[in-house]
Amino acid sequence: MRIEAIDVIAVRLPLRSPWHTTAGTLNGREVLLVRLRSDIGEGWGECAAFAEPGYSAEFVASARLVLRDHLAPRLLTPTEVTSTTASLLMAPVAGHRMAKSALEMAMIDAELRAEGRSFAESLGVTRTHVDAGVAIGFAGSPAELCDRIASYVDAGYRRVKLKIAPGRDLDYISAARDQFPALALQVDANGAYTVADIDHLAALDEFALLLVEQPFGDDDLVGHALLANRLRTPVCLDEPIVSVDTTASAVALGACDVVNLKAGRVGGYVAARAIHDWCVERNIPLWCGGMLETGLGRAANVALAALDGFTLPGDLSASARFYETDIVTDPIVVEHGGIAVPSGPGFGVELDLDLIERFRVA
Ligand code: MG
Repeated sequence: MRIEAIDVIAVRLPLRSPWHTTAGTLNGREVLLVRLRSDIGEGWGECAAFAEPGYSAEFVASARLVLRDHLAPRLLTPTEVTSTTASLLMAPVAGHRMAKSALEMAMIDAELRAEGRSFAESLGVTRTHVDAGVAIGFAGSPAELCDRIASYVDAGYRRVKLKIAPGRDLDYISAARDQFPALALQVDANGAYTVADIDHLAALDEFALLLVEQPFGDDDLVGHALLANRLRTPVCLDEPIVSVDTTASAVALGACDVVNLKAGRVGGYVAARAIHDWCVERNIPLWCGGMLETGLGRAANVALAALDGFTLPGDLSASARFYETDIVTDPIVVEHGGIAVPSGPGFGVELDLDLIERFRVA
C-alpha cells in the first residue's frame, strides 16, 4: 500500500469502576487510536500504552510523540509498504513497541479489508470461540474480592486472575480458593515482590493456581528462575517478554514456564505470531494478556488467542467488563463463557466515529 495519511486520535473512555493495581488507580482509559488512509483503503489500530508509565516505560504522551515525529514519517514514503515490511522500516527507532504495534495494526486492518479477509482467517485459526477470562484488580477485603469473583463466575467467566502484592495476597487467595474450590484461578503481581519473598511465595503452592505471573521485576530473570525451581505452581512472565530473544533467554534460564503474550508489548501482531510459533515448537503454554483494550484491540486479541498455542484462557473479557460505552458498533460479549472470534474483514469491528468524537481528548 501507499500510505496517504496517519491520524493519531486520543480518546478517554470512562471506566465502569476504578481499576486498582500496583501501578496506581485508573478511573478512565486514555487510549490512542491510529487511523490510516492509503491507496487500498482505511485501517484502524490501537496503542496499548496507558496514560501513565506504570506498566512499562511507554505512555500515551510518549507514544503520540514517537508516532508523530519518528514512526509515521518512516511509513509515509512514496514507496510501497506492507504490514510485514513495516517493522523493518520502524526498526531504527529503538523500543516504543506499543506505538509501533498501533501503526502495524492499522496497516493489517487496511490490507485485510482490501482483501475482504478477517484477521482470524489470515492467522489460519480454526477455533470459532475462545474461553473468556477476567482480571480483577485489588479489592478492599477478601470478602469483597469473593463477591466480585462470584459476579464474574455468574457471568460465565471460566478463569479468574487476581492481582496480588505484599500484604494483599495469601488471605485473599485463600478466601477465593475456599469459596471457589474448582475455579481456574491465577495471580499476577506485576513485579511487586523480590527474591527475598521466595519463602513467602512458596505458600502459593497450597492453592492449586494455574500460575503465578510476574512476581519479580522485569529485569530479574534469575530471581524468577530461583522461584520456578522452588514452586510447583508454574511461573509466568509478562513484562519482560518483548521479543523472541527475551522469551528464549527467559526459557533457557528456567525463569518462564508459561508466556503471557501481549501484541502491543512485543511490537505488534507479526512479532506476537513469531513468539507464539517459537513457544509452540518448544511446548511452552501461552495465553493472551490484555491492556484494557477498546473493542478494536479486544477483537484483535480474540483472533490471536484462537491460535492453537494459546492453551490457557486469556485476559479476554467483554467490553462491558470495563466500559459502559465502547467505541465499536459491536462490542465484544461473553456468552456461555466464550467469546466469538470476529469474522468480518480486517479486525472485524466497525468504529463508531460519533463516539470517538464524543470521547476524543486530542
Ligand atoms: Mg501481567
